[in-house]
Formats: sequence, C-alpha cells, structure tokens
Amino acid sequence: MAREKACTVCKASTQREFYPMKEWDVEGPLCGNCYSKRLHDYYPGEHVRVNKDLD
Ligand SMILES: [Zn+2]
Repeated sequence: MAREKACTVCKASTQREFYPMKEWDVEGPLCGNCYSKRLHDYYPGEHVRVNKDLD
C-alpha cells in the first residue's frame, strides 16, 4: 500500500509534497495550496513583479 502524505498545515492528504523554506517555521511537507500561500505571505509578489522604470 502506498503511504499517503499529509500536509502539515491543513492536514489534507497530498500526492505531491512541497517542502517549506527554513524561515517559514513549518516542519513540512506541504500541499501545493499551502505552499503557494506561504510563498505569497513571505514574498508578496517580490520575485514576480519587477519594476521596469528604466526604459
Ligand atoms: Zn495544505
């Protein structure tokens, strides 16, 4: 039997595990939802949006 992985945060079983950053203070693994949520909480758009005022 395959072992089901459960998300540390929401306790939902997840087929794909995501491992949190050390500074998130979460043991992990996380489901995709919680992972992306944390990502946004910690890095609010920082590495998605770039100011391009230099043109
Ligand atoms: Zn979760």
